Amino acid sequence: MSAREKPRLGVFKFSSCDGCQLSLLDCELELLAVTDAVEIAYFLEATRKDMKGPFDVVLVEGSITTPHEAELIRQIRKSAKVLITIGACATSGGIQALRNFADVNGFLDIVYARPDYIETLDTATPIADHVQVDFELRGCPINKYQLLEVLNAFLNHRKPNIPNYAECIECKQRGTVCVMVAKGVACLGPVTQAGCGGLCPASHRGCFGCFGPMESPNTTALADRFLNELGQDKGTVLRAFRSFNANAPAFREESLKHE
Ligand code: SF4
Ligand code: SF4
Ligand code: SF4
Repeated sequence: MSAREKPRLGVFKFSSCDGCQLSLLDCELELLAVTDAVEIAYFLEATRKDMKGPFDVVLVEGSITTPHEAELIRQIRKSAKVLITIGACATSGGIQALRNFADVNGFLDIVYARPDYIETLDTATPIADHVQVDFELRGCPINKYQLLEVLNAFLNHRKPNIPNYAECIECKQRGTVCVMVAKGVACLGPVTQAGCGGLCPASHRGCFGCFGPMESPNTTALADRFLNELGQDKGTVLRAFRSFNANAPAFREESLKHE
């Protein structure tokens, strides 16, 4: 198949740390199969080739935090047949969405010597708040095997096989002893979507929710457990839910209860 016949892939970045784009480069051996299956038409992290759309598949990292980004994502959507958001920044607003709970001008004055040079929005919002999104892939960063599965699925016109059950299932699959039951360590695993393979509990740490809320999470029950059985105070519970996915609706609503 000639390069011209391959589906055209575009990878775009908004406000983010680049970590999710690096997950694609981190595919190493699998990257050869990816480049064999698609023409990488736009991916500034990896190539200086700057080709215009249209694109068959677009991956978008990062949240919308400036008026320029809000306009740019609308243009990108018009040029993309399929648009997939990757990572906590793009799917919930990311850590930068902490600004949504405060006055952004307060941060500007502290961080920048000349805040008058900064043009920003009051909020950091997920891509889906601005344009139609075909699939959201969670994680901070995303899991590279899940990314390959999503790309494979869309290139073959099928539904991605990405679990939406709790992180706890991955502990069971891995045979990890539950850190919350055995050691009284606070863990967001019961309300967090699986995807990392149970990384933190396997290292005797609680999950801090970087894959965002699972489908139908019972955050109230977990917060009650943190407060009443693990002896945490409201501030600690608030901060547990207000981290990488602070603006994901289920985590945002739970954190607001503990202000
Ligand atoms: S989701 Fe995490 S790893 Fe990905 S771009 Fe945002 S901060 Fe970086
Ligand atoms: S350690 Fe956390 S994620 Fe694992 S089973 Fe216990 S509560 Fe669930
Ligand atoms: S256990 Fe939780 S915090 Fe740790 S990598 Fe997995 S989802 Fe992220």
